[in-house]
Formats: sequence, structure tokens, C-alpha cells
Amino acid sequence: MAEHYDLVVIGGGSGGVATARRAAAYGKRVVLIERGRLGGTCVNVGCVPKKVMWHAAEFAEAARHAHDYGFPVASDRFDWTRLTENRRTYIERLNRIYAGNLDKADVDVVAGEARFVDERTVAAAGREFTGEHVLIATGGKARWPAIPGAALGTDSDGFFAWDTQPAKVAVVGSGYIACELAGVLNSLGSDVSLLLRKEHVLKDFDAMLGDTLIERMREAGIDVRMNRQARELHEDTDGRITVEFDDDTRIAGYDRLVWAIGRVPNTDTLGLAGIGLELAADGTIPVDEWQDTRVPGLHALGDVTGGPELTPVAIAAGRRMADRLFGGMPERRLDYHNIPTVVFSHPPIGTVGLSEADARTQYGDEAVTIYTSHYVALYHGVLSDKTPSDMKLVCVGPEEKVVGAHVIGDGADEMTQGFAVAVRMGATKHDFDDTVAIHPTSAEEFVTMT
Ligand code: FAD
Ligand code: NDP
Repeated sequence: MAEHYDLVVIGGGSGGVATARRAAAYGKRVVLIERGRLGGTCVNVGCVPKKVMWHAAEFAEAARHAHDYGFPVASDRFDWTRLTENRRTYIERLNRIYAGNLDKADVDVVAGEARFVDERTVAAAGREFTGEHVLIATGGKARWPAIPGAALGTDSDGFFAWDTQPAKVAVVGSGYIACELAGVLNSLGSDVSLLLRKEHVLKDFDAMLGDTLIERMREAGIDVRMNRQARELHEDTDGRITVEFDDDTRIAGYDRLVWAIGRVPNTDTLGLAGIGLELAADGTIPVDEWQDTRVPGLHALGDVTGGPELTPVAIAAGRRMADRLFGGMPERRLDYHNIPTVVFSHPPIGTVGLSEADARTQYGDEAVTIYTSHYVALYHGVLSDKTPSDMKLVCVGPEEKVVGAHVIGDGADEMTQGFAVAVRMGATKHDFDDTVAIHPTSAEEFVTMT
């Protein structure tokens, strides 16, 4: 006999956990089904372990700079095993905290893989659950290319499972993950190639960000190869990997290779065909602005729906949906405009709003005014490493409303959140200029551009 709930949540990642807890806070009966570890991609094989690795890379950079600050620190005794062990312990603690929070919220947690029996009934772990509402928040997994030898490489999950650091490594892809992992591995001392099939990275961002990042990566010693589409991987007699490209060129001698070429939604095991839910061409679940699918009572959010694949987006969409369904807030939903984001590259990138190109397309060239700043942060003043930073404000109309703010450089990761509030509120260039600077910081460049 099926157990009945107000809300059945499939997936215990960022979106599923946030929705379940918010619904339970409204006194609703909620069950959450998770086939893996609580916390999903972000906690286990995404944001959290990635940020730990990024911090380690920042340490390596700081150690290289330390000499100029009067601290002759040796940075050549990096211990990969200690770092990854500490990271694992931290994540296991987070898994327990997630379980504890769901327990405190009175959410029933079921360990197992969920599959639809009918539109409102889900089977998992030998039980059946019916819901007034059912939420699919099953996230995604790395995309792999269909080429011979692809399995010689690994994906970002594999990167987090490495128990040793590769001496020479190839990272294939041009998005967030490729840029972040290439930067981390390079800073930690691996010999890194970034293999791009085109001539850019981060194609959806303002072009200044990707172009500058490629320059910075090359200056930092990353071997950035453009117009290289991998056709086949071979294992050499010494166990190393050779990559063969479409143009008949090849590069040999990689200890490891990471595929970072995008992600595909987790829908294959849900039995969606049986309930008549059609997927979009890219495999994502189509939803409207309320996170509703075409099947009444069936909702989806987070990475499985495509869109900005970011933890705070999945969380915000879920909490707002729970507010709407169970909290008496009929208009509550996530506005997907002006979502800020950071790429934890070296140097980091922060961006919110429209790129210059998108603003020109949307408003016309005449309406767009661009302000830029190219500066060397004070931190680098006493260093021989004078890596500069770059910023851009994209403004439109006679009032110069700021519709885009972009930065690549020290502190970008922490400064973007506050400026996102200003952009979201419709601040103008005059509002930026009228804000007294905080000196000496990098963020002050945003309010002192001429
Ligand atoms: P997920 O967190 O993926 O959760 C889905 C859950 O559903 C998983 O736990 C899965 O096991 C479970 N599941 C799937 N199918 C079933 C089933 N049939 N039955 C039961 N359970 C099922 N975002 C950021 O904002 N900042 C970052 O710095 C960042 N870094 C990232 C780094 C990497 C390497 C990666 C891969 C991603 C990163 N992201 C980052 C993206 C972020 O992790 C995702 O956007 C976020 O986790 C999406 O949340 P979700 O709830 O949609 O899915
Ligand atoms: P992305 O979608 O960011 O980038 C993947 C890119 O790889 C594509 O856009 C494409 O770019 C390129 N590509 C696709 N196929 C191939 C191929 N066969 N060979 C070579 N290159 C190819 O995907 P990621 O996997 O990097 O990350 C997935 C998502 O996870 C991100 O979009 C982001 O939302 C999230 N994430 C967020 C992070 C953060 O917030 N800091 C960190 C990590 C991930 P092109 O067409 O230009 O070649």
C-alpha cells in the first residue's frame, strides 16, 4: 500500500533538500528519496570540494608570493593526500549535517533510486509513495564524448576521487569546470594543457572575461590549445594517454585527462516515458516559470531543468516553489534575470547581468555605454608578479542604468555579490559614482570608473 505525502521529493541535492525543508516548515508531510549521498553534486562532487581545492591553489600562489612579503616559504612540499583526506572528512561532516537538518525538519528520508509508477506515485527501496505534489530534482552528470578511448579519461567526479596528483594532465572543455580545474591543477604544480575545440572559453560571458582569462592562464604556464577537437584517445606502452585530434595532430604523454564538456540531466532511470512527460531536445525537463511541468502536480527544478546550473538557483527555485504551494504566497517564483555567478578560475571571475554583446543586441549600439578599468591590485604592488585585473560596466540609456558588471582579478569572487544587489535594484552609473569608495580595495574600482 502506497504511503501518502503532501510532497514527494526525488533527489537530495541542493534543490531537493531546500524544497523539502521549506515545505516541512509549513507543516507539510514530506518524503525525500536520494539514491546517493545527501547534498547531491554541490556538496559531494561540486562546489564544496572544488572550493577546497581552489583554496589550496590560492595557498600555493600565496606561497610563491610570500618571499616578496618577507616570508621565504617553501611551496614545493605540497601533500595531495593530506588535502584530499581533510576534504573527505569535511564532506562527510556535511553529509551528517544534511541528514540531521532533514531529521530536525521532520522530512522522511528514503535511501534508494526513485522511479515513477504513475503520475503521482513513485517507487523506491521496495516501497511506494504518493504525493499531492511530486518534485523532480535529480540534477545531472558529466557529459562524455562518444569517441574511441574516451574511457581513458575521467570527469570531474573522477578528479575528486584521485588519490595522487598527476604530473601532466589534459583538461578538455571551455566552461566553468574546465577553467576551474585547469587553474587549480596548474597552481598546485601539475603540467596542464587546456584543450579547446574553438578559440574561446566561457562563451556565454562577456568576451572580456574569457579573453583575459586565456591570457592569464597562458602567463601562468597553462598550455592552452585552440581549435583542437579530440577524435580518439590511446593508451601508450608506458600507460600514458595520447590525444588524437580531428586535424590529424596529436599530443602524447598525459598521465590523466579530464572531460569537462558540459552536463546531461539525470532522467534516464525515472521512467518518465511511462507517465507521458516529454523531455526537451537536450534531455532536460521542460518547466514553466512556476517550475511546473505539463503534468499537473508534477514539478521540476535545478540542473535537471537546464538553465543556470548553480546551487543557489536550485535552492531559490525550490524555496520559492514551496512558499507558493504551501506557504500561501501565490505569486512567489524565481526571477531568472540578473543571477550573479563566480568562476573560481585563477584569477577568479565575477559577473552579473548582460554581457556587452547581449546589451548591444538587446538595446542597440547607440544606447550602450561601456566603462572599463585595467589595474594592478595593491596586493601585487610589492610583488614581482604584477598580474593585472580587469573590470567592465555595461550601461544603457541616457540615465546609464547598469545592466552588467564584470570583473576578472583578485577578490572578484567576494566582491560580486554586493554589486549584484545594486544591478538587480536598477542602479545607474551615477549611483555607482555617488557611492563612496572603500580604499584601498579592488572593489573600489567599480565606483571610480571614468
Ligand atoms: P544535484 O545537486 O545534482 O542533486 C541531485 C540529486 O538527485 C543527486 O544527489 C542524485 O544522486 C539524486 N538522484 C538522481 N536521480 C535519482 C533518482 N532516480 N532517485 C533518487 N535520487 C536521484 N554551483 C555553484 O553555484 N557554485 C559552484 O562553485 C559550483 N561548482 C561546481 C563544481 C562542479 C565540479 C560541478 C559538477 C558543479 C558545480 N556547481 C556549482 C553546480 C551545482 O553543483 C549544481 O548546480 C547543483 O548541485 C544542482 O542542484 P540540484 O538539486 O539540481 O542537483
Ligand atoms: P559548461 O556548460 O560550463 O561548458 C562546457 C563547454 O565545453 C561547452 O559550452 C562547450 O563550449 C565545450 N564543449 C562541449 N562539447 C565539447 C567537446 N566535445 N569537446 C570540447 N569542448 C566541448 O559545462 P561544465 O561541464 O564546465 O559545467 C557544467 C555547469 O556546472 C556549468 O554550466 C555551471 O552552471 C555549473 N558549474 C558552476 C560552477 C560555479 O558556479 N563556479 C563551477 C562548475 C560548474 P564551446 O562550444 O565554446 O566549445
